[in-house]
Amino acid sequence: MRQPATIGIDLGGTNVRAGAVTSSGQLLSYSETPIIAADGPEIGLKRITRLIEQISAEADVQIQAVGVGCTGPLDRAAGTINNPYTLPTWENVNINQALKDHFSVPVSLENDADAAALGESWLGAGRGLSRVLMVTVGTGVGTGFILDGKIYRGLAGVHPEGGHIPIDPSGPQCYCGARGCLESLASGSGIAAIAQNRVLHTPSLLMEKADQNPELISAEMVIAAAQAGDALAMEIVQQSATALALGLINLVHLYLPDCVVFSGGVMHSFALYEPRLKEMMKIHSVMSPLDQISLLLAQLGQKAGIYGAARAAMLDASID
Ligand SMILES: [Zn+2]
Repeated sequence: MRQPATIGIDLGGTNVRAGAVTSSGQLLSYSETPIIAADGPEIGLKRITRLIEQISAEADVQIQAVGVGCTGPLDRAAGTINNPYTLPTWENVNINQALKDHFSVPVSLENDADAAALGESWLGAGRGLSRVLMVTVGTGVGTGFILDGKIYRGLAGVHPEGGHIPIDPSGPQCYCGARGCLESLASGSGIAAIAQNRVLHTPSLLMEKADQNPELISAEMVIAAAQAGDALAMEIVQQSATALALGLINLVHLYLPDCVVFSGGVMHSFALYEPRLKEMMKIHSVMSPLDQISLLLAQLGQKAGIYGAARAAMLDASID
């Protein structure tokens, strides 16, 4: 007999991942395929449809619903992706309608940071806790807050963008139009941009690592140079840790979660960040017990978004 399952999709700027997930959280099948934004949404949607068909056939799954997690901006209610930043050419693409027409099941669309947070809260680091804040520090900074197993939503159902909390009004210009956002100071691309500028004035190992071309400096190089003891790289990492700590304190003062779950490429070097985060959390613990909040690493890796997108679709369609 075919096994009922919900499909979770994690649609990123370069790859799409899909998994068939049961209501008890078992992953029956999984696959991924590249997405080339320049090919346009029509080809992209066909690839996603084929990927769903492939993983469903592999595990002999009867699809109950489909959940899609994607970087914003998106319109959850309308089911449309409008994302010129990570998916150029995907403007007002109604992915919900396309998948509904093809598979005749309910389809849900979520911000990818919310989907990952829901996944970690359901089956990962935040399992069993009622208030889970997730902070992803990779190319950008994404946040999601899960309250009693459900995604916390803002006005008109919009996803709160914790990455654009202002940290330094005189800081670098962010692509959102504001200055000194958490993302522009603490994300991988923010760290790289700061380093590319600083090496022009301060001697550093980084120039050697980048073959004397500052534009080649990446966040990974800065972190590796900091670990090797390069003074400039260490200073840049410490400044980004301070920015992340300030953003974190703003978030946890409001949400007072049971835990914060960290994920993303930059957080692979969590050990470099943890002392600063803990130190500043303690300083700010006078009015609220911030020092009692657990700081955890994500457990589901790149599959968090799949589990979370599937779970969101199950909740929307009342599947249990
Ligand atoms: Zn911003």
